[in-house]
Amino acid sequence: MPSVFITGANRGIGLEFARQYSNAGWQVVLANRTPMAPKDFASLGMDVTEFHYDAMDDATAADIAKRLKGRPIDVAILNAGIDDQPDLPPELVTAEIWERAMLTNTFAPLHLAALLEPNLRIGQHKVLAAVSSLAASSTYTVPRQFAYRASKASLNQMWRNLSVDWKDWGAICLTLRPGRVKTRMTGFEGDLTPSESVSGLRRVIETATPAESGKLWGYDGQVVPW
Ligand code: NDP
Repeated sequence: MPSVFITGANRGIGLEFARQYSNAGWQVVLANRTPMAPKDFASLGMDVTEFHYDAMDDATAADIAKRLKGRPIDVAILNAGIDDQPDLPPELVTAEIWERAMLTNTFAPLHLAALLEPNLRIGQHKVLAAVSSLAASSTYTVPRQFAYRASKASLNQMWRNLSVDWKDWGAICLTLRPGRVKTRMTGFEGDLTPSESVSGLRRVIETATPAESGKLWGYDGQVVPW
């Protein structure tokens, strides 16, 4: 049975990934700061494990890696992310806001990816996906979101670095653009439901080959230039 590892799966896009992979019969490993609501957890299949994970606390990542030692992961989806106070003008963006965005959206996924490398190496699919954003692209002209856009642009670059570093063992390092999705992050406004977005992203993940590694892929199957 294939296995998927997902961060930030207690709500929003991450929860929908957990639902869809579980419905498809995958083994599902969740890494959540806030535990999944019991009714959501109960609605998933039998083979679900949930670990405590806080992107701001390296010890939680280390603990997960220790518990998963020797276990293959076929697909990892590093989805947890924040967009704090997106409308702030530049003069009000603080070092604290910047640091939290960079640690949560860039450093934490990179750190976790490094810890999970041994598991991905022994997995079948070898897909390491990180949920990025169109907001990281220079083609995006909506203003503000300073810290968020910087952190997701850095995430894209780190994933491209990994695609080079890990090419020798066939890693497929993808960043993903979910579209504008109705979740708490967007005030439940957007063009897509989590179900529509995740269905598209799963198609991208499941058809990706090493030739696609290092690029930003949209839910619609298109490469997004950045
Ligand atoms: P939500 O706000 O619904 O979910 C965010 C998830 O990230 C929650 O599970 C949250 O956990 C988790 N998270 C935040 N901070 C931490 C942390 N320090 N440690 C562990 N988990 C954390 O938003 P979405 O589902 O929309 O967002 C998922 C991803 O998609 C994000 O990376 C986001 O940037 C990206 N994205 C979303 C878009 C959209 O339109 N919705 C568009 C483009 C990208 P908790 O409940 O504990 O806070």
